[in-house]
Amino acid sequence: MIQVAANCVGCGKCVATCPFGALSIVNRKATASAACTMCGACVSVCPVKALSLPATGAAKKDLSAYKGVWAFIEIADDGYKQSVRPVGFELLSKGRELADQLGEELCAVVIGENVQNYYAELSQYGTDKIYAVSAPEYRHYNTLAYAHAMITLIQKYNPSVVLFPSTYIGRDLSPRISSELFVGLTADCTGLSIKEGNLIQTRPAFGGNIMADIKCPDYRPQMATVRPNVFKKVVKTPGRMAAVVQETIAIPVEAGKVRIIQTQMDPVSGNQKLDEAEVVISGGRGMKDKEGFALLETLAQTLGGAVGASRAAVDMGFKPKEKQVGQSGVTVASKLYIACGISGAVQHVVGMEHSDVIIGINKDANAPIFNVCKYGIVGDAKQVISKALEQLKK
Ligand code: FAD
Ligand code: SF4
Ligand code: SF4
Repeated sequence: MIQVAANCVGCGKCVATCPFGALSIVNRKATASAACTMCGACVSVCPVKALSLPATGAAKKDLSAYKGVWAFIEIADDGYKQSVRPVGFELLSKGRELADQLGEELCAVVIGENVQNYYAELSQYGTDKIYAVSAPEYRHYNTLAYAHAMITLIQKYNPSVVLFPSTYIGRDLSPRISSELFVGLTADCTGLSIKEGNLIQTRPAFGGNIMADIKCPDYRPQMATVRPNVFKKVVKTPGRMAAVVQETIAIPVEAGKVRIIQTQMDPVSGNQKLDEAEVVISGGRGMKDKEGFALLETLAQTLGGAVGASRAAVDMGFKPKEKQVGQSGVTVASKLYIACGISGAVQHVVGMEHSDVIIGINKDANAPIFNVCKYGIVGDAKQVISKALEQLKK
């Protein structure tokens, strides 16, 4: 909490500065409440320099005890079979680079049932070690059980970096762990690198207008989430086997509060997954109506792809939110991406620019989407797609 020195004159200037409402004047002195996040915004406004943050050195941990880059491996369950979610390989590929720069081990952490089935696959990505927690009770994701297992492993082995996928599970699990361990967590990173031994976590800020570099120099482990398709997966060492450390971790009693009685696949997400599709056809406001999107569905079926949408199209009710491509939706890295009636706002582009071939269809020849396209077609999207379908049928 911010420290208020005895020379405070109670002028109140700091009170309005605090974005968290943590300061008030009590008995003509500034007083900070537990809401203080130690952001430091108030320090410079005090005319008598009565405000200061506690010296960081005093709270500093011995960071040399923390070694290793970990990637949490999510197991996907489509109702019939379980498999490693591909984003896990992307985390390992990036993790290998980070571990090499730090001179530390790359470790995969896999929790589930029969996880030995994944060892060979996980080892190919340059993984030095696999921490495995395998038991029937871990077959289905359970927030409390998985968080307990991860915290137990982290406290036992002290990694310096832990990466999570920015999926429903990763987003649920990682903040629980970071708050329990009292460390930072940077969500949806688009870049990760090492500088002076610290993990530099890069992510868009202020609506994507700037890229912020975030570091946590005083605490370990440094934790970040990364969306699927942001990093490329790179097979480093085919045929190699990582060392395996098996841990038995009992599920805490409170985890029993949640029991999976039955699972049912949502028919929408049961279709080809947007973030794993090789062909993505996305529609924007320029598709005009549901009939326009029906054309996109036909094109997607013909090409064997999935249909996505811009936020404007989602807002207009043409597609559900989980089909939104972009900064606040899904990131795709398809082989072919066709943007139909989409202007190409930066918030959309960051979610699809890693695709191999991008085709834009827009009636406005100056639309920004053409700046990221390999091929651009100027014209009415419905007419262009109808003609393309005729040709494809032939
Ligand atoms: P518009 O910008 O309205 O563009 C429609 C385009 O269709 C125009 O270029 C027009 O020339 C063309 N057109 C019109 N008629 C036709 C026709 N008959 N044939 C061909 N072309 C035609 N957006 C996202 O998509 N994903 C996100 O994740 C996302 N996150 C955001 C997060 C934040 C914090 C903010 C502030 C915004 C976000 N947005 C996101 C919104 C984004 O800024 C744009 O508003 C949105 O992408 C615009 O969608 P659009 O291109 O479909 O619509
Ligand atoms: Fe408020 Fe930040 Fe000052 Fe704390 S350090 S009192 S949160 S402005
Ligand atoms: Fe006290 Fe400084 Fe705040 Fe004024 S600005 S109330 S002097 S701490």
